[in-house]
Amino acid sequence: MDSEMAAGDWQRVWFPEMIERLRSRWHLGMSFDAIIELRDDLDGMLQRIRSERHIHSPVFRCPHCGHVGEGADPHVSVRAMLLSLTRFGIAPAGQISALERGWAAHRKEKGLDLYGRSMTSSPAQVARCVHP
Ligand SMILES: [Zn+2]
Repeated sequence: MDSEMAAGDWQRVWFPEMIERLRSRWHLGMSFDAIIELRDDLDGMLQRIRSERHIHSPVFRCPHCGHVGEGADPHVSVRAMLLSLTRFGIAPAGQISALERGWAAHRKEKGLDLYGRSMTSSPAQVARCVHP
């Protein structure tokens, strides 16, 4: 129902079905590869939910290149997913802060971006303009 859609839905990242998926899939001792897979899964859900419910980011002028268009779609980062485990009461904070430090070290060691993908030659500057 349209009336249920809050004004801020375009920037919303966690929808109830995603939290349920996170709750059912998460277990302590998951490998980082499995964690990245779970992130991919949740991010895919987010993009599907947005497209099914016709949720779009508002139009804006890009401060970097002047392009006028829809703002970048939100994505689930690995760190945001880990923090959500605490936020939604799925795992205790102490457990997650240790894992978060482990993830930061793993990311650095493997040269991964926020989403667990290999950073090839794309510097952060280029990655800022994601609109077409
Ligand atoms: Zn731009």
